Amino acid sequence: MKTDFEIAVIGGGPAGLTAAVYAARAGHTVTILEGAACGGQMLLAHEIENYPGFTKIAGYALADQMMEQANSLGVSITYAQVDSVTKEDDRFTVLCGSKSYTASAVIVAAGAKHRTLDVPGEAEFIGRGVSYCAVCDGRFFAGKDVAVVGGGNTALGDAIYLSNICNSVTLIHRRDTFRADRILVRRMEAIDNIRTVMGARVTKIEGDQRVQPLDLVSVAESAMSQPMVLQADGVFIAVGNVPDLAMLSGIDGVQFDEGGYLVTDERCRSKVPGLFVAGDVRSKNLRQIATAVADGAIAGTEAAEYLDALGNK
Ligand code: NAP
Repeated sequence: MKTDFEIAVIGGGPAGLTAAVYAARAGHTVTILEGAACGGQMLLAHEIENYPGFTKIAGYALADQMMEQANSLGVSITYAQVDSVTKEDDRFTVLCGSKSYTASAVIVAAGAKHRTLDVPGEAEFIGRGVSYCAVCDGRFFAGKDVAVVGGGNTALGDAIYLSNICNSVTLIHRRDTFRADRILVRRMEAIDNIRTVMGARVTKIEGDQRVQPLDLVSVAESAMSQPMVLQADGVFIAVGNVPDLAMLSGIDGVQFDEGGYLVTDERCRSKVPGLFVAGDVRSKNLRQIATAVADGAIAGTEAAEYLDALGNK
């Protein structure tokens, strides 16, 4: 059955790029459908220190190298936001706005979008003091006082990164222990212009035209005896990610876990023949570049084998 591509990979992060490399090397035509820039969350990482082979590498540099490798194998990149995926017989149709593409196999490597705090003022001040990306927006706060919300690797990495640019960084975390790796916790604790507010939740973000150095963050329900108002010029929200898989609502039989992540077997196969899953969007315990890449290698190989079997029917 003729299709636009043999394999369509949704998402150009480390999982998608690796899946494309493996499928292309197995001799198939592959396109990556990517809504923004390829690289995924790697583009938001100032420095990556736990990807094997690199003691330290900038996120964009690792992304560039992965993209170059995919390009060298003839993988095409289609810049488009995927709205829906449907399947009829052995053919998938991927709808992107007014355009649609057909493929014999689809690898979903769409990553996850940032989780929001869902407090008053958050949406209102996006781009006016509220940010979800320290590497993208940190320089706008040079010499200023900022807050970072979260207790995972991203929040601590952001706090450390911002401490080099800003006057002060206040890290607000809802529990009294961090989820982040201990090496990051120790590094952060040694930095003079980072202070931590533990056992605290942001309940409101206030301002005027922009987030103002007044009443920025009200912290309540906390371990503190009194609710607290923190003054800051900006707030970086780093409270994890959530999958965004509405695009699959038109396919029967796809299975999600309670967090909304896609359930697969260990070969990255979903319950739908020809639909594979790789990276952060897959139900699993550890979400790292290394595990995204591992998923990508498996999904790319499995998709290639699926197509070979389909061709032999
Ligand atoms: P994460 O590990 O899921 O951590 C999210 C943090 O935000 C947690 O501390 C969580 O608190 C807190 N949080 C969640 N919802 C909240 C809410 N509504 N209000 C306040 N706080 C909230 O997310 P991440 O730090 O973005 O990391 C995502 C994945 O990428 C992880 O697997 C991480 O290891 C990986 N990553 C790795 C690196 C690295 O290795 N260099 C760098 C960045 C990210 P609780 O702790 O109380 O749940």
